[in-house]
Amino acid sequence: MKAAPFAYVRPAALDDVLAELADGNGKVLAGGQSLVPVLAMRLGRPATLVDIGSVAELGSLDRGAEVVRVGAGVRQRRLERSAEAGAVPLLGLALPFVGHRELRSRGTVCGSLAHADPAAELPAVASCLGATLEIAGPGGRRRVPAKEFFVGAMTTGVTPEEVLVGVEFPVAGAGEGFGFGEIARRHGDFALAGVVTRVRVGGDGAVTDARLTGFGISDRPVTSDVTSWLQDTTDEQRLRAATRELAEQVVDTGGDSHGSRGYRRRLFSVLAARELANAARKARA
Ligand SMILES: Cc1cc2nc3c(=O)[nH]c(=O)nc-3n(C[C@H](O)[C@H](O)[C@H](O)COP(=O)(O)OP(=O)(O)OC[C@H]3O[C@@H](n4cnc5c(N)ncnc54)[C@H](O)[C@@H]3O)c2cc1C
Repeated sequence: MKAAPFAYVRPAALDDVLAELADGNGKVLAGGQSLVPVLAMRLGRPATLVDIGSVAELGSLDRGAEVVRVGAGVRQRRLERSAEAGAVPLLGLALPFVGHRELRSRGTVCGSLAHADPAAELPAVASCLGATLEIAGPGGRRRVPAKEFFVGAMTTGVTPEEVLVGVEFPVAGAGEGFGFGEIARRHGDFALAGVVTRVRVGGDGAVTDARLTGFGISDRPVTSDVTSWLQDTTDEQRLRAATRELAEQVVDTGGDSHGSRGYRRRLFSVLAARELANAARKARA
């Protein structure tokens, strides 16, 4: 199929992007890796595509003392290859699993967050780390924590009149370790199920904070505070009972031709125990 007719504009300033979106009938075009297939399948028929690729201020990638800030124009591959990504180890672990290298050369970090595919890696990373998303709209700018940003499958807190202008990922601190694992039918496919973990330990090696985010298991990333589990044990095999129980509660994606809900629960449970143990080991190293 071919896309329905649409107008195309490529403003050079953010104010002009917002003016083009003001009537609510436009759609932001970033890397086009998800939007163009949506248009081609006629699952969406926006009147105007507003290409943000020429807005210079959206192209910034900065590392501060506390956060790495990624502007909406930054492509996934640029972040993957950057020195800045080193300050946020989960980005380095997750980005190679976002589609294929060719897709990442066009797709943007914020485009993936705004698209909010339930099986996408970057929304899970943002959720696990407690990233902050910055949104610009007719009423000015607002900052939204990741846990409030993802509201359902392909649905976020960004309204049609607004633009996601950037995301801030917290820089990893001393005593933090991270884990990432996913199972997909082929490398580059969306995950059947995946997990992202962050574990923090004190000077004595005791776990003080542990987060586990699952993706591909529900309509959005699901983050659980599992600190109490890891205070008892960080042994992968001994964590399995708890992760099995959690899987029953949080994995609610229905079965499909790629796997049943029960299969996804097993994947989640195994990956979660493995990557929590991994993150704890790295945190203590
Ligand atoms: C074959 C294939 C395999 C893929 N595999 C994976 C995978 O394994 N994991 C994964 O995570 N992704 C995967 N993707 C998706 C890919 O990561 C996309 O790049 C990403 O989802 C969207 O980024 P984009 O910059 O291309 O956004 P676009 O396609 O340009 O936009 C996607 C949506 O987000 C909106 N949008 C984009 N930017 C903004 C913004 N700044 N403000 C407001 N709204 C915005 C658009 O309006 C649109 O609705 C795959 C895609 C393909 C085609």
